[in-house]
Amino acid sequence: MSSSEIREAFLAFFEKNGHQRVDSSPLVPGNDPTLLFTNAGMVQFKECFLGTEKRSYVRAASSQRCVRAGGKHNDLENVGYTARHHTFFEMLGNFSFGDYFKREAIRFAWDFLTKELGLPEDKLWVTVHKDDKESEEIWFNEMGIDQTRFSRLGDKDNFWSMGDTGPCGPCSEIFYDHGESVAGGPPGSPDEDGDRYIEIWNLVFMQFNRSKEGEMTPLPKPSVDTGMGLERIAAVMQHVHSNYEIDLFANLIRFIANVLGVKDHSNQSLRVIADHIRSCSFLILDGVLPGNEGRSYVLRRIIRRAIRHGNKLGATTDFFYKLVEGLVREMGEAYPDLKKRQTYIEDALQKEEQQFARTLEQGMKILEQDIAQLSGTEIGGETLFKLYDTYGFPLDLTADIARERNLTIDEDGFNQHMQVQKEKSKQANQFGTDYNDSVELDIDTEFLGYGQAEAQGIVKEIIVD
Ligand code: ATP
Ligand code: MG
Ligand code: MG
Ligand code: MG
Repeated sequence: MSSSEIREAFLAFFEKNGHQRVDSSPLVPGNDPTLLFTNAGMVQFKECFLGTEKRSYVRAASSQRCVRAGGKHNDLENVGYTARHHTFFEMLGNFSFGDYFKREAIRFAWDFLTKELGLPEDKLWVTVHKDDKESEEIWFNEMGIDQTRFSRLGDKDNFWSMGDTGPCGPCSEIFYDHGESVAGGPPGSPDEDGDRYIEIWNLVFMQFNRSKEGEMTPLPKPSVDTGMGLERIAAVMQHVHSNYEIDLFANLIRFIANVLGVKDHSNQSLRVIADHIRSCSFLILDGVLPGNEGRSYVLRRIIRRAIRHGNKLGATTDFFYKLVEGLVREMGEAYPDLKKRQTYIEDALQKEEQQFARTLEQGMKILEQDIAQLSGTEIGGETLFKLYDTYGFPLDLTADIARERNLTIDEDGFNQHMQVQKEKSKQANQFGTDYNDSVELDIDTEFLGYGQAEAQGIVKEIIVD
């Protein structure tokens, strides 16, 4: 089954079961200043779960475009290193707003996987929250799941929240066993981080709303929110292990390899670039442009990271913007706006590319010199800051290079330099514009070590047209 066929089979199955088909919402959440990007299918339905918005339906299904490159769910640093993470992906989901609850949610998921898609039960592994006896009984007594492929886990794995605040609840997850040839243990085991057992579907039983103070109040009606990564289920259906080998990525990677003249299609940098062209194109389509603050800076960081990987593969001229065409070929049918806005997206990318190309080479030279002279294994704060400030290297880009060479970065040192710079510009700007008037975003303070000040992203440049 192709990715498009799976998407359609999912939506048709839930439609047949009384769900309203709902279009994907944009990546910039219209209703939520606390959220950096739409990171799950439930985001557009947040108010329905809270009971503050009523719709004409109580069951919905969607294929939601998501970006996880900042905030509570951040997978940027996983890209290129795991078989299953993207910055941009599509999440298939079915939702119940105070209608059905655990029993039906589990039944729908199990039937879709084992009957519609015909997956063998003995390849599927199930987890529940350790205190959720109700779900456990449904799995054992009604689905007949085998005890040997079942784990009870704690909050870290089986309690889902959209962000620090908002709807949340215990969840039950379904994993696919890709077989002995891949390293990794079952969920909950010490070697669960391997890629053998891949999480495909999360069924969240929405029961609470978490306030800023961390207080949990029960939702007016228990609800259901599920999410299954389209690329992950496509990998299962297409008998490949990595998401990067599914139809869509194989074609996109072929296109990119052609543009860059690279022979080995399993090259890690090609995968990173293929991932990044998707997130960058869709972010631009949804109104974000590269810049220095908040969402715009996240986009800039992803673009620059992709350009650096292209450079590593030998690209000497602009290439990234040319990849939009390959993406349109793969996704233009499902997303007609992508095709319509192709030139706009290309122009925005090329502009950023030209700007960064001027300093990338010089910056790399500085970094190489610094690494050559390194006595330990840590790149110092001063170098990190110089690269950031003079050559436009976002910190995570330098961290990416460091990681490839088994080096670390002195994040604290970087933050100190940053702080000094901030103080200086504050003094110089005493009578200038105060950007702090703008909305503050909840950008992950842990994200590869941006300091407190950097983490307080400020939306300054969101252009929606
Ligand atoms: P993982 O543990 O693999 O990082 P997750 O627990 O963070 O996944 P959820 O928040 O439960 O993921 O999201 C629901 C589903 O969305 C997952 O079961 C998976 O199929 C898919 N998914 C999550 N993150 C990604 C990603 N970065 N790239 C592709 N698919 C993803
Ligand atoms: Mg995750
Ligand atoms: Mg998980
Ligand atoms: Mg999960």
